[in-house]
Amino acid sequence: RRKKIVQECETLMDKPENIRNIAIAAHVDHGKTTLTDNLLAGAGMIADEGEATKLMMDTEEDEQERGITIDAANVSMTHEYEDTNHLINLIDTPGHVDFGGDVTRAMRAVDGALVVVDAVEGAMPQTETVLRQALREGVKPTLFINKVDRLISELQEGPEEMQERLLAVIRDVNELIRGMTEEMDDIDDWTVSVEDGTVGFGSALYKWGVSMPSMQRTGMDFGEIMELERADKRQELHERTPLSDVVLDMVCEHFPNPIDAQPMRVPRIWRGDDESELAEDMRLVDENGEVVLMVTDIGIDPHAGEIAAGRVFSGTLEKGQELYVSGTAGKNRVQSVGIYMGGEREEVEKVPAGNIAAVTGLKDAIAGSTVSSVEMTPFESIEHISEPVITKSVEAQSMDDLPKLIQTLQQVAKEDPTIQIEINEDTGEHLISGQGELHLEVIGQRIERNQGIPITTGEPIVVYREAPQSSSREVEGISPNRHNRFYITVEPLDEDIVETIKLGEASMDMPELERREALQDAGLDKDTSQEVEHIHGTNIFIDDTKGIQHLNETMELVIEGLEEALDDGPLANEPVQGSLIRLHDARLHEDAIHRGPAQVIPAVRQAVHNALMDAEIRLLEPIQDVRIDVPNEHMGAASGEIQGRRGRVDDMYQEGDLMVVEGIAPVDEMIGFSSDIRSATEGRASWNTENAGFRVMADNLQPEKIAEIRERKGMKQELPEMIDYF
Ligand code: GDP
Repeated sequence: RRKKIVQECETLMDKPENIRNIAIAAHVDHGKTTLTDNLLAGAGMIADEGEATKLMMDTEEDEQERGITIDAANVSMTHEYEDTNHLINLIDTPGHVDFGGDVTRAMRAVDGALVVVDAVEGAMPQTETVLRQALREGVKPTLFINKVDRLISELQEGPEEMQERLLAVIRDVNELIRGMTEEMDDIDDWTVSVEDGTVGFGSALYKWGVSMPSMQRTGMDFGEIMELERADKRQELHERTPLSDVVLDMVCEHFPNPIDAQPMRVPRIWRGDDESELAEDMRLVDENGEVVLMVTDIGIDPHAGEIAAGRVFSGTLEKGQELYVSGTAGKNRVQSVGIYMGGEREEVEKVPAGNIAAVTGLKDAIAGSTVSSVEMTPFESIEHISEPVITKSVEAQSMDDLPKLIQTLQQVAKEDPTIQIEINEDTGEHLISGQGELHLEVIGQRIERNQGIPITTGEPIVVYREAPQSSSREVEGISPNRHNRFYITVEPLDEDIVETIKLGEASMDMPELERREALQDAGLDKDTSQEVEHIHGTNIFIDDTKGIQHLNETMELVIEGLEEALDDGPLANEPVQGSLIRLHDARLHEDAIHRGPAQVIPAVRQAVHNALMDAEIRLLEPIQDVRIDVPNEHMGAASGEIQGRRGRVDDMYQEGDLMVVEGIAPVDEMIGFSSDIRSATEGRASWNTENAGFRVMADNLQPEKIAEIRERKGMKQELPEMIDYF
């Protein structure tokens, strides 16, 4: 049976007009996993739907235990619609915001996103987040309102109330879509509606669904369906209007196939020359064109090793091809190509453009790589949405496991670019940085369980930032041999410019003209934007010098010194953000031997640090938006949990039968929140956090926090003399 399905998929792979690449996006618990089960069972992929999630999607043990989906996994299925067989490639997206990077990458591979919303809860913060990620990538949404059975069984709503509630959900989702697409010229109107058939309703639990076209087809109207649900005749409902048909029909009808989608999506995600042959290959989904694969996920197969999964935008992938991997020097040889059938990979002869492929042999690829048969401008970077805010140390319990642990950590960083790893081979203590407490916890468990390496992890440590608060005077940095001098000033960058860099809209990878324009649009003055020598983190380095001998050949070392200074700020060795650094003048020794790395790097580093201190550098801490849903009687306790953590409650309002408390709090104080809120509300609260950037810490808290970090890092306690403003 499986063989037959694989054969069917292989035949369909050559017909891009019959392919749909889709993702299901939902707030946690709204029913994505249950719906996926239904689709796979309905498409005949599995005999019994109970198997589905276990086998197909939640392949990692910890996901099953936690009941949340973490890694984006892929599965293909076939569906007959209007007498034509379709190939539907479904990419799973994680349901927790801590894993935001995975969601964005999954969206890159697909052209349609089925947004699932719980009828009772309505659109939630993560619904908004995933929708934004989809729209930003040019992925078209449709809506499925799930758990409609709850409106009857739990809320005992009558037909009118139900209708009102469902319309309210649609209105909310459309408001989000409208707001997010307003400034996108290439998107006309992506709002959803019942009349168009871009909205479906139903119950993933009881396996029935309904949409405008399904009502026309079955002759059952919404009222009749609700009567059957009310009468508990769910089996009958499932037989007469099965959920999988309703949803898969909607997918085939309303999501674009790759031929329709790629001409619009490629310009959104690729900044290469749009008049080149390569651009044409991608627009046409040309299977005879150059090979272009966008890697969205790296997985490990115990036998085959690393597997790169991703979307083939043009050409045909085949075994034996030698392909370029963006960001690396050499080529990698394709060892095998395959497609996903659930959690398992099936090798096939070739995978043509428009499909999702699984490839082995691409040893240099990471999640986010562009892999191609010719050298090309890579796809836009997709790791810019969130920066790590929390770090944990990891040690192997036995020194014998050290090499294996290092290898595993390197692997983890490849699979998930939102993770940062610092490896210390001497002490054996390594640091993993990620998006939140849960994110790191899951990674730690994965190392222990999957790799069988017993590890000890430290307490979670928050990642801080340092940023200048005013403009410095001109400051001098002198090399140890005193023959080289650098004159530097520092000033804070405007928020808009920092944001532009964070979003990847201005980077050193892009053509100079484009970068200049982006920076000017964000508010950088014209002259300065023309002298940008380097961007590091969210800091810009400007070379304002004129005609200094030997400076060109020394620039690489200058940049090295600059990066060192910015990676380890002067307050507490935390990364510096949002600064504009200008080199005004320099004295360099005639003889290259006297202006080597040991001279130039420390001189620049010292100059940058001194300028930062003169610019009143301060410590910034990461903060989170917090939302708590809680019954009325626990509202006080819930808001107290935010306020007690140096937090601020911004809003409290009723939604359905619950109260919603919204506010912000520092990440540092949010450690342990999960168990505290549980005991404060007798376990009745559900909550969500989302990283909301960095904020300058209050001055009276600065000295203590700086001292604490310096002690933890083994730095000397007293601050440089220049920092006397505390
Ligand atoms: P996910 O986190 O989005 O993958 O959500 P799941 O599919 O794991 O569903 C979360 C919970 O909601 C589970 O207990 C499901 O049984 C339940 N659930 C899913 N769909 C429905 C539905 O249509 N009606 C009801 N009443 N419960 C549902």
